[in-house]
Amino acid sequence: MDGKVLVIRKKNRRQHPWVFSNEIKKIEGKPKKGDSVLVYEHDNFIGSGLYNPNSLITIRIYSKIEQDLDKNFFVERITKALDVRKASFPNEQDFRLVFGESDGVPGLVLDKYQKSFALQTYTAGMDMRQNLIVEAMRDVMTVACVIEKNDFRMRDIEKLERREGVIYGTPERVIISENGTKYYVNIQEGQKTGFYYDQRITRNKVRLLSKNKNILDVFCYTGGFALNSGLGEAKSVLGIDASETAIKLSEENAGLNKLENLCKFQTADAFVFLREMFREHRRFDLIVLDPPPFFKTQKEKKRGLRGYKDINLQAMKLLTEGGILVSCTCSHYFFWQDLLDVLSQAAQDIGRSFKIIDRTTQGPDHPVLLNMPESEYLRCFFLEVY
Ligand code: SAH
Repeated sequence: MDGKVLVIRKKNRRQHPWVFSNEIKKIEGKPKKGDSVLVYEHDNFIGSGLYNPNSLITIRIYSKIEQDLDKNFFVERITKALDVRKASFPNEQDFRLVFGESDGVPGLVLDKYQKSFALQTYTAGMDMRQNLIVEAMRDVMTVACVIEKNDFRMRDIEKLERREGVIYGTPERVIISENGTKYYVNIQEGQKTGFYYDQRITRNKVRLLSKNKNILDVFCYTGGFALNSGLGEAKSVLGIDASETAIKLSEENAGLNKLENLCKFQTADAFVFLREMFREHRRFDLIVLDPPPFFKTQKEKKRGLRGYKDINLQAMKLLTEGGILVSCTCSHYFFWQDLLDVLSQAAQDIGRSFKIIDRTTQGPDHPVLLNMPESEYLRCFFLEVY
């Protein structure tokens, strides 16, 4: 332990793993960026935390007891996380293995693709301990390679430089399986960590609704919803994405699942494409909208909401009678009520009635901490035209 920090927090923040700089009252010792500190409120011990004086989130609590961030810590946390995933998905090998604070490891994300792993670290403390983390992983599981995917915005907030590369082993092209759907994953070239495991539940629900329907998967990336629709015996399936690389991979994934005759893909901008489809009188029985986050901070929210309303409105116009819209958002600050408001305004504008037939969120490999609202970020509504 490298220091002791006294904090004062509002009552309703006491279980939150983040301590903001303005909650810190006194620092004893000389902790440096990335060090472990003991955190106290008055005389009460709160826990062990990761310290970063360069970040507004100055401390992230990683343990309720006094505990060093040594290899044992990581072995214990990774083992526990793996056990929880095995219990949730007894037949799966591929999932998010560690989801930061929600798994008691603030600032560490690990996605498992067979024996290959994508690693993200977004706290200084985790960043410095990458070698230790890899050692611990190898103690717990067979590890063929670990690839760092640290080119994302959250690192800027912690004043960490962006980086990507192989940190252990030799990368290879991996085939993963999710609910029986197969995907090629290219961790190095892929977006984020290579695959979006968070939509596991939504993809399965879409598969169950797809039989004999004409499906449009907008923002399809590597084809997740499209392929599930195909396996759900859809009549036709079209996936679109702005990224040519993603579309190419979607086509390969269709082949991998023997769906190349049913699932078609096209590179297109969603905002333009949806309008074109309307002009061409094309209609669909089920449309999935799974856009990237249009905003990431409260400040950008107003402008971001306009983008969401636009695509939802355009998609609603393309639905057949009885058609279904699956509308998703992965913006942290886009709460359930915001999404409901956007959807109901869009529906009113075009004069169509919908009923909510389902709603989904991130799967159990992305657990949500009750006292950390930020850990919930994925929200999807299933709306049916009636
Ligand atoms: N549905 C996917 C995940 C979508 S991620 C799955 O199941 O895996 C968001 C995707 O939106 C990315 O692939 C990105 O390339 C794409 N995208 C971003 N802006 C876009 C736009 N304007 N039009 C079409 N696609 C876009």
